[in-house]
Amino acid sequence: MHEVKQPKKHFFYYGGIVLLLLVLFNFLAIPQMRESQIKDVEYSTFMRATENQRIDKVDIQDNQILYTLKKGDDIYRTGKIEDPELVNRLYSSGADFTGEIQTEASPLLGILLTWVLPIIIFIFIGKYMNKKIMEKSGGANSMMFGMGKSNAKIYVKSSEGIKFSDVAGEDEAKENLAEIVEYLHNPGKYREVGASMPKGILLVGPPGTGKTMLAKAVAGESDVAFFSMSGSEFVEMFVGMGASKVRDLFKQAKEKAPCIVFIDEIDAIGKKRDGQIGGNDEREQTLNQLLTEMDGFEDNSGVIILAATNRPESLDPALTRPGRFDRRVPVELPDLKGREEILKVHAKKVKISKKINFRHIASMAAGASGAELTNIVNEAALRAVRDGRHFVTQNDLEESIEVVIAGYQKKNAILTDAEKRIVAYHEIGHAIVAARQSNSAPVQKITIVPRTSGALGYTMQVDEGNHYLMSREELENKIATFTGGRAAEEIKFGSVTTGAANDIEQATKLARAMITRYGMNDDFDMVAMETVTNQYLGGDASLSCSAETQTQIDKSVVELVKRQHEKALKILKENEEKLDRLAEFLYEKETITGKEFMEILLEGEE
Ligand code: ADP
Repeated sequence: MHEVKQPKKHFFYYGGIVLLLLVLFNFLAIPQMRESQIKDVEYSTFMRATENQRIDKVDIQDNQILYTLKKGDDIYRTGKIEDPELVNRLYSSGADFTGEIQTEASPLLGILLTWVLPIIIFIFIGKYMNKKIMEKSGGANSMMFGMGKSNAKIYVKSSEGIKFSDVAGEDEAKENLAEIVEYLHNPGKYREVGASMPKGILLVGPPGTGKTMLAKAVAGESDVAFFSMSGSEFVEMFVGMGASKVRDLFKQAKEKAPCIVFIDEIDAIGKKRDGQIGGNDEREQTLNQLLTEMDGFEDNSGVIILAATNRPESLDPALTRPGRFDRRVPVELPDLKGREEILKVHAKKVKISKKINFRHIASMAAGASGAELTNIVNEAALRAVRDGRHFVTQNDLEESIEVVIAGYQKKNAILTDAEKRIVAYHEIGHAIVAARQSNSAPVQKITIVPRTSGALGYTMQVDEGNHYLMSREELENKIATFTGGRAAEEIKFGSVTTGAANDIEQATKLARAMITRYGMNDDFDMVAMETVTNQYLGGDASLSCSAETQTQIDKSVVELVKRQHEKALKILKENEEKLDRLAEFLYEKETITGKEFMEILLEGEE
C-alpha cells in the first residue's frame, strides 16, 4: 500500500538560504572592499589642493567629501566641515563637483528588507529543520514541532494491498472479520435491520500469529482507508499529549469514514488503571480519552477500530466492555494444516523446487508461529543462495527449521569426547523413557551438533497433533521424560552434570501446574492455588494461597517429580543395553532419526 507523502520543497528552502547569504554579503563584504581603496586626508589638505587647482572631481556627500586629483587615480576622503565658501572655491578652481541627490528611499522597500525578508527566511529555515527532524524520527511525533499530532500512518486503497488470501490458516478469525468487510461494503443492509456493528474488535493471540496482517487484510478487502498506530506511540513524555493524539486520530478517522483504525499493542495504553497515587498519569489520560472517543461516535458511523494485543488480561475492563471493544477474535498459533498453508503462501515468494513435501516440513516445525515459518522459508532461500543454487530444496527447509529454532551449527567442535558421550546418553535417555511410555516414536530426530544458541544437542519432537485435553497420566509421563536425560547420566556415569537445568525447570513447572491449577493432587481437590497472568507470553502464574499451603505445594511438587524420576530410572535400567547401543550410535553418527531410533529400540522384540 502507499503512504501519503508531502511534495518536496527543496527549491524554496535552498533558495531562501542562498538569498540570505547574498544579502549578508552585500551588507558586510562589498563596502569593506570599496573602503580599502580610499585614502583618508585632512580637510586642510583638501583646501590646499583646491587652492592649487589640483583637484579633478569632487563628490560632496552627507557627512564626507570624496575627491580625486588631476594626477593619479587615488580617491581621497575627508570629513565634512561647515564651510559656506566651499562651493565658490571649488567653482573658481575649475574642478567638477557634485552633491548627493536626496531621493526618498521607498519606505515599503525598507520595511520589506529589514522586517519581512528575515521573517520569511526564518520560516523557511524552521520548516526545513522540522522536516529533517521528522525524517530522522521516522515520521514519529517530534515534540517541538508537531505537538499532539497523531501521525497515524494512513494507508490508502491500493491494488497491491494485503488480502485475506495472503493470510494462511486462521480460518475462524477470517470468518469473524469477513462480517466487518461485508459491513463496510454495504452498511445500509445492516442499518435496515437495525443491527449495529461492533465499534471495536480485539485481536488477541501470541506474537507473530498474523494479527497485524489480518487487520491490514480487512482494510485491503473492504477497500477503505486504513489508519495504523502502535499503542506505545501515544504515550509521550508530557501529560496530555497522548490524549490529544487520540483526539486527532479520531478526528481524522471520522473525516475519512468509512475507514479502519488499527491500534497495535493496545496494552501499552489500555492497561488496567490501578488507582494508585502517582500512577502513570499520561497513560491514564490517554486511555480516558480513548474511552471517551469510542463512546463519542455514533453506532454505524463507518469507523471500525481494530486493536491487537498479546496480553488481553491486562486490559482495563472499561475498554473491553460492550460498546467499546466488544468482540474478541482469538488468533492462535497455527495447527499442522495452518502451518502447511503458511509455508505454501510464503514459498510462492521464493524460487522453490517442485518436489517439496510441505506437510513434512510443517510437522517438523511443531509450535512455530506464522512469523517463524516466514523466517524459515527466508532462511532456506538464503541457504540456497549461499550454496550457489537457484532454487530452494527440501533439505534447505529442513535445515533452516533447526537454524530458526536452535541457531546455526557451531563450526568448531567445542565438546570434548567425554562431554559428547554424556550429551548422547542424555538425549537418548529422554527418548527411551518417552518411547517406552507411549509405545511410539517420540522424536523426529536427535542431533548432538552444538548450536549457536548454546544448546549442546537438539531434539525435534514429533508433532502430537491438536491436543486439547491431557490426562493426569500423560502429564506424569511427560515429567518422567524430562527427568530421563538426567536418569541416563546417573545410570551410566554415576554422576550428574549441569546439562539438565532446562529439563528440571520444565518438569517443575509442569508438576506445579498439575497441583496448583489442574486439581491433580488429592490434598487440594479442585481449588486453584495459582492464576495465570500471561497466557500468550509464556504463561507465567502467580500464587494465591497462604504461606502454609505454599509449603505443602512445594512438598507435593518435589514428591511428584521424585516419583517420576524414579520411574524413569526404572525404565532405563530395564533398557540399559538399548541405551548403550543407541547412545553409541548417536555418538558415532551425531544424528539419529526417529525411524532409526525405533528400529534399534524394537530390535529383537516381539
Ligand atoms: P503479530 O501482529 O501477530 O505479531 P504479524 O501480523 O506482524 O504478527 O506477522 C508477522 C509476519 O509473520 C507477517 O508479516 C507475515 O509475513 C507472517 N505471518 C504471520 N502469520 C501469518 C499467516 N497466517 N499467513 C501468512 N503469513 C503470516
